[in-house]
Amino acid sequence: MTPVVELSEVTKEYPGGVVAVRDVSLTVEAGELVAIVGPSGSGKSTMLHLIGTLDRPSSGTVRIDGHEIAALKDRQLSALRARRIGFVFQQFHLAPGQPALDNVADGLLYAGPSRAERRRRAEEALRRVGLGDRLDHLPHELSGGERQRVAIARAVVGEPAILLADEPTGNLDSASGAGVVQLLRELHHAGATILVITHDQELASSLPRQVAMRDGQVV
Ligand code: ADP
Repeated sequence: MTPVVELSEVTKEYPGGVVAVRDVSLTVEAGELVAIVGPSGSGKSTMLHLIGTLDRPSSGTVRIDGHEIAALKDRQLSALRARRIGFVFQQFHLAPGQPALDNVADGLLYAGPSRAERRRRAEEALRRVGLGDRLDHLPHELSGGERQRVAIARAVVGEPAILLADEPTGNLDSASGAGVVQLLRELHHAGATILVITHDQELASSLPRQVAMRDGQVV
């Protein structure tokens, strides 16, 4: 099977000369649950941007879901990102005035099913993350842990090739954080490919595979 992520000798240098990622090669196979772990400034966010196709490398090749990024126009890259990559962020990024159901249904806008079908699938995704009884709640009516579950439901409702989670427990108390990690584990057991970016060594150690970064390199 084609690996979901294939970085080959990737370097990212920002204008001004900071080399944030240096000569990194990394393969993530379908079905893996991987932590990219390292201290602040080690290049994790830059890796997230490269793998999430939000940024292009200065040199080396990035393949996501079998597509070489350099060969795609911006419009094709946006399509790949919208259809094949699910994002979860520390700050949840839910639309504040919208019920959980609509927030999740919006995850399918790009895929193009009817509104009724989007809502049906959103409800299913929310049930899957344990929020079947919170469909009509607005984000401010939910706890932090519940908001992150909504964000995860939105990220996976379109069945992306990979779920990228950037410090998904960074804004949560330890009990809610543990619940979110448990949810990621369940999605992994159900077959999802997940990459978690974290500075939390303990969280990373609890996952099946760790990629440790320091000074822009995998160590
Ligand atoms: P982490 O996510 O592990 O904290 P980053 O990938 O954000 O690490 O940063 C790696 C290095 O690249 C740091 O030295 C940071 O200052 C630098 N850096 C990050 N983003 C930019 C940017 N847009 N322009 C210039 N330098 C940057």
